[in-house]
Amino acid sequence: MLNPSSLQSWLRVTPKGLYCEPGDFFIDPRSPVPRAVVTHGHGDHARPGNDHVLATKETLAIMRQRFADDAGAPQPLPYGGAIALGDVSVKLVPAGHILGSAQAVIDYRGERVVVSGDYKRRVDPTCPPFEPQPCDVFITEATFGLPVFRHPPDTGEIDKLMHSLQLFPDRAHLVGVYALGKCQRVIALLRRQGYEQPIYMHGALFGLCQLYERFGVALGPLLPVLDVPKEELRGKIVLAPPSAANEPWARHLPDPLVAQASGWMRVRQRAKQRGVELPLVISDHADWTELTATIEDVKPGELWVTHGAEEALIHQAGKMGIRARALSLSGFEDEE
Ligand SMILES: [Zn+2]
Ligand SMILES: [Zn+2]
Repeated sequence: MLNPSSLQSWLRVTPKGLYCEPGDFFIDPRSPVPRAVVTHGHGDHARPGNDHVLATKETLAIMRQRFADDAGAPQPLPYGGAIALGDVSVKLVPAGHILGSAQAVIDYRGERVVVSGDYKRRVDPTCPPFEPQPCDVFITEATFGLPVFRHPPDTGEIDKLMHSLQLFPDRAHLVGVYALGKCQRVIALLRRQGYEQPIYMHGALFGLCQLYERFGVALGPLLPVLDVPKEELRGKIVLAPPSAANEPWARHLPDPLVAQASGWMRVRQRAKQRGVELPLVISDHADWTELTATIEDVKPGELWVTHGAEEALIHQAGKMGIRARALSLSGFEDEE
């Protein structure tokens, strides 16, 4: 039976992040620690300078690429495999967020906590789907934890982009994407919907695309924008970090039509502020429907919410008969 006071004695919030005392490790620590368990490679979860890092081999490769010698001594753990750290058993299971993303399943003396990191529930061709784990405490983010956030199906958003290419065949379609995860997912979704032409890219995006391909995610032909004449980019898809639209680099594009792929594109005002002509609501985070469906699936004894729109989700959990509380962890900002 769940005893919250005992639980909080073995897993607690510290200034460096969530700390598991009987295992002597931190999960996604915000400053360097002797032993870290890292859920995935995004910068607010994976940071340099730890002595030892336990994660999936994909996440470790992403950290190695980003931090080089500062990535920490790697300890790979495959999905589903369990390992003992001190008196605790740790298992990693897919979170469906980006390549290598995992939930950390932590068992100690008959109690189980699941730290989900970031996750989503819809199909993503670049990573295995989220697997619900029964547990006493489920720790979730709530980036899109408001009922107004309901992301439309990805297929429709990709259709919008393909339709725009037909309507404006003389304009380069510049799609702003986050370099890790969103970029490769947008490419994979385009390929799945039959887009076989080369996709042109900003130089900053190649390294992680190559890493994805090394792990078996096929992305099709990708070309550097600066290697081709401007005229060749008319009616083509160009991917770049969201900030690139306002940089001198963008002068290489003929009459660019600016799109952006992000869950925040659901908010019209945000799209307008950023000068986005074609907002594409494609998110790597669970929307309200996915968050509440996940609580239903996991049926935790208790829900802890790390960051985001915590209050609405805590209220909703209460309506579902689940005790919930805000951890108010700092240092997490969503990469979208
Ligand atoms: Zn993330
Ligand atoms: Zn995050």
